[in-house]
Amino acid sequence: MAAAIQRLFPEAKFGVGPVIENGFYYDIDIGRTITEEDLKEISKQMKKLVSGNPTFEREELSMDEAIKLFEDLGQTYKVELLQDLKEKGTTSLSEEEQQDLGNVESVSIYKTGAFTDLCRGPHVEKASDIGPWKLTKFSGAYWRGDQNNPQMQRIYGVCFATQEELDDYLTMMDEAEKRDHRKLGAELDLFTFSPIVGSGLPMFTPRGTMMRDLLKDFVWELMKPYGYERVTIPHIAKCDLYKTSGHWDKFEDDLFHVSSKKTDDQFVLKPMNCPHHTQIYASKPRSYRDLPVRYSEVTMVYRDENTGQLQGLSRVRSITQDDAHVFCRKDQVAEEVMGMYRIIEGFYKAFDMPLEVHLSVRDPKAPEKYLGGDEVWKMAEGVLADVMKEVGIDAKPEEGEAAFYGPKLDFVAKDAIGRQWQLATIQVDFNLPERFELEYTNTEGEKERPVMIHRAILGSVERFLSILIEHYAGAFPAWLAPVQVQVVPVADRHNAFSDTLRDDLLAQGIRAEVDDATESVGKKIRKAELRKVPYMVVVGDKESSGEPLTVRVRGEVDQQSLEKQALIDLVQQAIADRS
Ligand code: ZN
Repeated sequence: MAAAIQRLFPEAKFGVGPVIENGFYYDIDIGRTITEEDLKEISKQMKKLVSGNPTFEREELSMDEAIKLFEDLGQTYKVELLQDLKEKGTTSLSEEEQQDLGNVESVSIYKTGAFTDLCRGPHVEKASDIGPWKLTKFSGAYWRGDQNNPQMQRIYGVCFATQEELDDYLTMMDEAEKRDHRKLGAELDLFTFSPIVGSGLPMFTPRGTMMRDLLKDFVWELMKPYGYERVTIPHIAKCDLYKTSGHWDKFEDDLFHVSSKKTDDQFVLKPMNCPHHTQIYASKPRSYRDLPVRYSEVTMVYRDENTGQLQGLSRVRSITQDDAHVFCRKDQVAEEVMGMYRIIEGFYKAFDMPLEVHLSVRDPKAPEKYLGGDEVWKMAEGVLADVMKEVGIDAKPEEGEAAFYGPKLDFVAKDAIGRQWQLATIQVDFNLPERFELEYTNTEGEKERPVMIHRAILGSVERFLSILIEHYAGAFPAWLAPVQVQVVPVADRHNAFSDTLRDDLLAQGIRAEVDDATESVGKKIRKAELRKVPYMVVVGDKESSGEPLTVRVRGEVDQQSLEKQALIDLVQQAIADRS
């Protein structure tokens, strides 16, 4: 792509061109913004280039040779990266930038035809080795992510081994766009934003709140048998809490600060709940017999983000966590983790989302980076691996992925269109008990530190909802639908019967609504269809006079003729089955 761009725009200056999760991008500077038309021309030029089947030839240069070469080529951005690497080492570069460079000792370049690029590699040997590709989109991006720097044009593309994989991917992206939760969320009347409230601060309407509560209740139903108890904490705390926990040093820039005119204490809006929960644990002496202590709370945390990164419900500044913390003895970790896994398993089964599990363990080459000592780490990593083995899941250990405070299991769920989302997590923590000096008295009467386990099932309620909306394309199963039965009177004279029917349904625990707007019945039916209500009952003269009800089931072509009790049974069964 870069070679094609250089042919079309000989003055083009290149930034970085890394591989990303889905495909690749290249930041370029052509002195103006790019257009759809440019993208077509670049694609055409790429095809032309590939048909000549040029080779990609690697060459290793010394740092100074490389700087000289890119100076001669007028590639000032590349020169800047090389200078940084030379003077400050790899740590001065982002992950993406490092892909363009080698190390301080030697820099590699690749030549293809008349084009020379700086790249760590490896590359395919010749253009005919490149699978089917497509340039997908472009956007603006500041050089090195800094808005004081020049704006570059970022062109994205994807490449696959086979045409079928490329087609599948493009279909998936099309489908994702149609299901965009920001669009559906407004159509379904689930949440809203207001400029005078602030960006990244969603508000949930009655329908959206209904769904949040249903999700919360479902998780609680699954958790209850495992002995969890609910706790409640305030949304602010003194800075000292986070200085003790260590979050202050790490996240200071992401915290919302709150000051008081009545005291000198400085507060922050809580960015997480764990530190508060440790203080409930520490509020009284604990003995080995009291453990495990299991606290759970669905509550909001607040983290600041650059407003440019906020996106619908996927990325917000007020984040509801379905949080739980277990404080237990070392010999109890296995059973606790198993219980947590059972909850996660049950939850995702209900949404028909298959799970993939990642086990993050230490980097065996750098044991000094981790807190807690070799023995406890071995125990904890072993426990997580054993639990996964016991339930028949192949969780490959990922070395070096663990946090410094403990190993973890991450659960990646696959949605209806094949996208993967990292949602649930189970994390063992040796750090916070140490920092807050948590204790219990063991069988010998000595003080010992409990192990803390953090776990989330949904991840965050907001992000999970955004995923669910797109997973179901807004057509939620009956148990989760904010309105389960929409009653549609044909004319005003059918309103009284419709209201009685709604009341009867409500009395049976079914969420029903009457649409008594003075609109045509056709319009009201289309409205209910747009809202994707699972069941619709159209009430006309016949129905009002006691004949069976005409029921439309979402997704079914034929209408059903049902007595009221049969309708109630049908809906209640669907709710009970979570189908
Ligand atoms: Zn936590």
